[in-house]
Amino acid sequence: MIKVDGHVHTPFCPHGSGDSFEMYVERAISLNYSAITFTEHAPLPVGFRDTTPDQDSGMDPSRIKDYFDTLDSLKEKYKDKITIRSGLEVDYIEGFEKETEDFLSTYGPRMDDSILSVHFLQHRGKWDCLDFSPDVFESMMSYYGSVDEIYKWYYKTVLQSIRADLGSHKPKRIGHITLVKKFQQLFPASQSFSDDLSLILQEMAARDLELDYNGAGFVKPYCGESYPPPYIIKQARALGIKIVYGSDAHTADGLDQGRALMK
Ligand SMILES: [Zn+2]
Ligand SMILES: [Zn+2]
Repeated sequence: MIKVDGHVHTPFCPHGSGDSFEMYVERAISLNYSAITFTEHAPLPVGFRDTTPDQDSGMDPSRIKDYFDTLDSLKEKYKDKITIRSGLEVDYIEGFEKETEDFLSTYGPRMDDSILSVHFLQHRGKWDCLDFSPDVFESMMSYYGSVDEIYKWYYKTVLQSIRADLGSHKPKRIGHITLVKKFQQLFPASQSFSDDLSLILQEMAARDLELDYNGAGFVKPYCGESYPPPYIIKQARALGIKIVYGSDAHTADGLDQGRALMK
């Protein structure tokens, strides 16, 4: 079986670990991966102010060239052992489509593979990073009115990201489409939102977008399942959507996480 990991973070992550690229690559080789894509959080769009308490969501824009250069030398160094792909996890932030497209037109040519993810939700002019912490999620609840309303808003934004015109370098894969469930055991929703998810999958299939099957949810203490859960993967497969495992590792040890539990 060919093992691929399409979602790996790096030492360039402002909220990640200091684990070196070599640590990730050596561990991936030891786990018999044939290919991995490094998908560091892209710098946030020009003009967007990171609303997280630590302001650590995206890569420092001044380091982006160094990031791609480092990956190029890594590809060369390990070319006989593993395929390394250069990529980014690009945020879809409502209202910053133009800035995102400009960024992608500049750096898209340096990427082999990439992911488009929603972490920030815009509600009445205020942006929140929904997966930052239970505290932030809880503060959103009073602002949005309910847990269900946050879920509704999240799925609406994921749908927008799928439909958004971000130019010819728009990422081909959509990240963790149920990230809103990260704190579900603390703040459960009252419904499954299966219609919203079905529509998301249909729109992805129509655009030939791939799905990030993300193992990180398993190790999050209040989630306990992959993003998305297996029944959604089954639906995605039935629609012919290409599914790509992603560890979403922020440490070398995080590689392969959840994989044994994912079918
Ligand atoms: Zn991250
Ligand atoms: Zn992410």
